[in-house]
Amino acid sequence: MISNRVKNITPSATVTLNGKVSELVAAGVDVIAFNIGEPDFDTPAPIVEACQKALSQGKTKYTAASGIMPLRKAICAKLLRDNGVTYEPKQICVSTGAKQALNNAILAVVNPGDEVIIPTPCWVSYIEIVKLADGIAVTVPTKESEGFQLDIEAIKSAITPRTRAILINTPNNPTGASYSEKSLRELGELALKHDFYIVSDEIYEKLIYGESKHICPAALSPEIYEHTIVINGFSKAYSMTGWRIGYTAAPKDIAKAIDDLQGHTTSNSTTFVQYAALEALDAKNDASVEAMKVEFNKRRKYLLDFLRSIPDVTCADAGGAFYLMPNISKYYGCSYNGMVIKDSFDFCTFILEEAKVAIVPGASFEAPDNVRISYSNSMENLERGAKRLLQAMQLLKQ
Ligand code: PMP
Ligand code: GLU
Repeated sequence: MISNRVKNITPSATVTLNGKVSELVAAGVDVIAFNIGEPDFDTPAPIVEACQKALSQGKTKYTAASGIMPLRKAICAKLLRDNGVTYEPKQICVSTGAKQALNNAILAVVNPGDEVIIPTPCWVSYIEIVKLADGIAVTVPTKESEGFQLDIEAIKSAITPRTRAILINTPNNPTGASYSEKSLRELGELALKHDFYIVSDEIYEKLIYGESKHICPAALSPEIYEHTIVINGFSKAYSMTGWRIGYTAAPKDIAKAIDDLQGHTTSNSTTFVQYAALEALDAKNDASVEAMKVEFNKRRKYLLDFLRSIPDVTCADAGGAFYLMPNISKYYGCSYNGMVIKDSFDFCTFILEEAKVAIVPGASFEAPDNVRISYSNSMENLERGAKRLLQAMQLLKQ
């Protein structure tokens, strides 16, 4: 018998769809993947070489559960340089991806029945991570018409004596929104007033465009710092999704709790990968990050203009990450060859079958009127995929 805890999980839509698309591609189908939540760039060569060097030097044994000291020191230096926050190495726990860091953070602060506010649309794993900790996910919508910015009034209304944390992600997956400093300050004030934590997932911080500026809530005041758990990692900034390495930076008591917890789960993140991550933080890799960002920004502009040109589609602008979330709900009720599009799942199934373009249903991110399109694919494929998407949508009739 499967435990209730696991039985109640909704499987990860993004991970499942990735598997399905890989199978189609392996079977020779020309699928254009706009579903992928990972950069389509190679991991920069110096990082790969640092890993190879670590392996040949025999860095293959256990380390401290929280990670090697040089890496934790380098993360502290990064947090000070990029985010204006001061941490000591003992406040850092290096984990097997930001996904584990998020699970650690929630398990460390949530008791059964505690509430965690999650602004939506949100990444597929957030609600499940809270459920796995026996917490209650309280979803609070953001508005497409406001660029999916935090709705502070709605958050205020959702706070109860059981609120233990709010889980935010800026820049955001799936909307691409980058939260304003004003809204983060207001959120910080609420966290202080009602004594809850801001779990701040900053995994997309390096992918930020135009006027948008990434703000780490912990930098806003010493009091907010004490109420913030920063989540970050290497997957998106350095195109290291498969390496599985991320981290938390937290107030001392929380960091100790996370260290204790990880000591009984995975222990340290893979040792030679930690040496690669140490290399990633070296300033010499900044140029690779910048080049990736410039390319993503070109694609973002192209895709936004394209989506906005489709009849009956709206799309909010996005200051970060590599996702756009067009609203396609005007197509609900349309049909083609007897297939009626009732919701975002039907829409994505239709687009995959007819256009051979993979996109993710918004319903998986608590955004039933939208779909998520990831522009982590070449400009050439973006143009090919856009053409196919439009042709398929033109087949849909009321
Ligand atoms: N947070 C968000 C918002 C993400 O999109 C992802 C993507 N996988 C993660 C965390 C997890 O990243 P990692 O690969 O470091 O586990
Ligand atoms: N975060 C990425 C996505 O949203 C990767 C897949 C996952 O772990 O969910 O697609």
